[in-house]
Amino acid sequence: MSSSSLRHPGSGTDGASGCWVRVALDVPLQGLFDYKASSPVQIGTRVIVPFGQRKLVGVVVDTPDQPALDASMVRDVDQVLDDLPPFPVDWLRLASFAAQYYQRPLGEVMLPTLPAPLRRIGAYQGKRSAGGPVARMDKRAGGKGKDSVQPDVPPPLNANQSDAVAQIAALQGHKTVLLYGVTGSGKTEVYMHVAQHVLARGKQVLFLVPEINLTPQLEQSLRMRLAGLGGDDALAVMHSGLADGERLRAWVRVQRGEARVLLGTRMAIFAPMPELGLIIVDEEHDTSYKQQEGLRYSARDLSVWRGNDLGIPVVLGSATPSLESWNHAETGHYLRCTLAERARDVGLPAVRLVDTRRLAMREGFSPQLIEAVGLRLEAGEQVLIFLNRRGYAPVLNCASCGWVSQCPRCTAYTVLHRGGARRNFLQCHHCGYQARVPVACPDCGDQDLKPMGRGTQRVEEHLVELFPEARIARIDADSTRLKGSAQALFDKVHAGEIDVMVGTQMVAKGHDFSRLGLVGVLNADAMLFAQDFRAPERLFSQLMQVAGRAGRHTKGGEVIIQTDYPEQSVYQALQRHDYVGFARHGLEERKAVGLPPYAYQALLTAEGKALADALAFLEGARSLPDQDAARFSTASAITVYDPVPLRVVRVAHIERAQLLVESAHRRALQEFLSAWCSVLPAFARGFRVRYHLEVDPLEI
Ligand code: ADP
Ligand code: ZN
Ligand code: ZN
Repeated sequence: MSSSSLRHPGSGTDGASGCWVRVALDVPLQGLFDYKASSPVQIGTRVIVPFGQRKLVGVVVDTPDQPALDASMVRDVDQVLDDLPPFPVDWLRLASFAAQYYQRPLGEVMLPTLPAPLRRIGAYQGKRSAGGPVARMDKRAGGKGKDSVQPDVPPPLNANQSDAVAQIAALQGHKTVLLYGVTGSGKTEVYMHVAQHVLARGKQVLFLVPEINLTPQLEQSLRMRLAGLGGDDALAVMHSGLADGERLRAWVRVQRGEARVLLGTRMAIFAPMPELGLIIVDEEHDTSYKQQEGLRYSARDLSVWRGNDLGIPVVLGSATPSLESWNHAETGHYLRCTLAERARDVGLPAVRLVDTRRLAMREGFSPQLIEAVGLRLEAGEQVLIFLNRRGYAPVLNCASCGWVSQCPRCTAYTVLHRGGARRNFLQCHHCGYQARVPVACPDCGDQDLKPMGRGTQRVEEHLVELFPEARIARIDADSTRLKGSAQALFDKVHAGEIDVMVGTQMVAKGHDFSRLGLVGVLNADAMLFAQDFRAPERLFSQLMQVAGRAGRHTKGGEVIIQTDYPEQSVYQALQRHDYVGFARHGLEERKAVGLPPYAYQALLTAEGKALADALAFLEGARSLPDQDAARFSTASAITVYDPVPLRVVRVAHIERAQLLVESAHRRALQEFLSAWCSVLPAFARGFRVRYHLEVDPLEI
C-alpha cells in the first residue's frame, strides 16, 4: 500500500459491483487481505472479517477498484463496526510508515496499537461513551482526583522562556524545535504556554513524557491550566499502567476530539488525534521512548515524522539532548531554543568529584559524603543518594573458593535481596528466577558467604546506622511495586516527611524537589567502561539529570560524585555543567569512526536453545545478499558485521546472538532491510531459532 492511497478516503468504490475493502489484520503474515462489503465502507473503519476458521477485527486501509485475487475467492465482510468514527487517514499513514520503517507487517503494527476492547469482537459498544464509571476511573489514573488539585499561580515567564515561546508560537507548518534548557530552567512553563497557543487555535496537543506515574505534578498543572477549556475533560492520559477500559476511554475521547490534550508515555504516539496541532516530547533523550519488544519503535522519532507529515511543530525538550537531536540542531535541521539558566535565581548546583582511590571508605561512603549528608540534615534539607542498582548486593560470594551466586537459567549473577517479612533471597534480574540463600557454599561447604558490592537496600541499611534520627526512604522498582506506592513515596518527599532518599534512576527523572540540597552519587564508575558506544552519553545524561535535582528552589545545591577516575572527561564535563562541550566532543568522536548519528544501524537478533543455532542462522542471513545481487541492490553501501553472542548470552535457557548492519545512508539501509525481510522468513525455516530486527537500536 502506498501512503498516497491513504489520502483519499472512500475513493474507488463502486457500490453496484460490490465494495472491495483491503483490511489490515494482526496476523504474522506479510500483506493485507481483501474482502467484499455490501455497501461502501470508509477507510479507517474497523470491520469483523472471517480469516480461516476464525473471525478477526481488522482495519480497512484501502478500498481498491479490484481485489488482489479472483473476485470469486473473496469472502464477505462479516460486520462493519460503526461504534467509532473511522480512524483518521493521517493515523493510517503513521501506522503504515512505522510498519515500513521498522520492517513489520502493517496489521502487526496497527492492530496492537488499539486498546484491547477495540480489537476484540464484542468488547466495545461505543454508544455508552459519555460519562459513566470509566470516566471517573480515568481521573484517578494519575493517582489524584480533581479535589486534590490546588490552584497554583503560574510564574510570569522570564525573558528566555518568553523568547522560546514566541519563537515556537510563530512557527508556520512543520519544524522540529530542540528546547535545550538546563535542569530547572523552566521548560515545563514553555511547554504549557506553547500548548495554550495551539489549544486557543482549536487544535489538539500530544504531550509525551518518559514515565507518567512519576510526574503527577505535571498532570496536575495541566489539569489546572486546561480548566478554561472544559477542565478535566479536556485532558486524557494514556500509559501502560491503565486498565483496558481506562485506556479505551482516553483513546475514544481524543479520537472524538473531546479531549484536547493527551498526556502519555510512548504508546500515546499512536493515538488518533484528528485535530493534532503540536507534539511535545519532554526529556527527549530518555531511552524509555524506545520500545524494546514487539514493534521496536522510537516514539520520539515517530513524533518528528508525524509532525512533518501533518505540517505541525514538534518540540523536543531536554537538558541533555540525545546526540542525534543535538546534531540536527547543530546542522540547522532543528530549530534550537536555549534556556541557559535556571528559572529560579538559584544557580546550578556545585559538582564535587571525590577521588575514592586512596580513601578509607565505609560501606561505599567516603568521609566527605558522610560529612556532607550530616551537614545538610542538620540544616533541615533533604538528601538524595543515587545508585543505579537495586537489591542488597549484586552477588553473593564464597571467600574461600570464589564461588559466586549465578542464575541457573541465565549467564548472569543472582542478586541478593533482603526479604523483609520473608527471608533473604537471590533473584535474577534478567529472568526473575528466585532461590533461597544457601547456608553454605554449594561448592566447598564453607559457611562464610559474603555479599559483594552494594545495591540500594544495603546503602539504605547503612544510612540507617549512620543517621539513626533521619527519616530514610528507598525508592526503586522493589519498593514501589504496588500501584500508587511510588506516588505515595514522592508525596511524602514533597511534604517534607522524608529526609534522605536512596534511589535508582526512578528518582533522577524530572522531579522538582523543593527541599533537596545534596545529591550523592555512588558507583557511577560501573558504567564508565561499558562496551556500548552510547554508554558515556547515557552516563553523562543520567548524572546530569540526577545532579539537576539538587538545589532547585534554594541556592547552595551540591552534588558529590564518588569515583576512582575523576580525570575522565565525562566527570570533568559534568563538573563544568558543560553539556555543549561534552556533546561536541562526543559528536567528533562518532564522526571520526562513523557511528550514529553519522551512520544508521539495524540489529538482527536470533535466539535459540543453542548459541550455535543462533550464530549459524546469522551467518547464513549475512550471506543472503551475496546470492541475490538484484534484490539487494544497495548491498555495496552496507556494512554487515560478524555475528556475535550478546553480552548476557543466555536468558531463561535461550541463547542469543546478534548481527549489526550499518550504512552511511538511511535510504540504502532501509532498502537493504526490506529486501532482507522479504527473504528471511523462508530462510529461517531451516533453523531452530526465532529472530527479530531492530532499526536504530539504542544498545548494541
Ligand atoms: P525543567 O523541566 O526545565 O527542569 P521546571 O519546568 O521543573 O524545570 O522548572 C523548575 C522550577 O522553576 C519549577 O519549580 C518552576 O515552578 C520554576 N519556574 C519555572 N519558570 C519560572 C519563572 N519564570 N519564574 C520563576 N520560577 C519559575
Ligand atoms: Zn566455596
Ligand atoms: Zn535468570
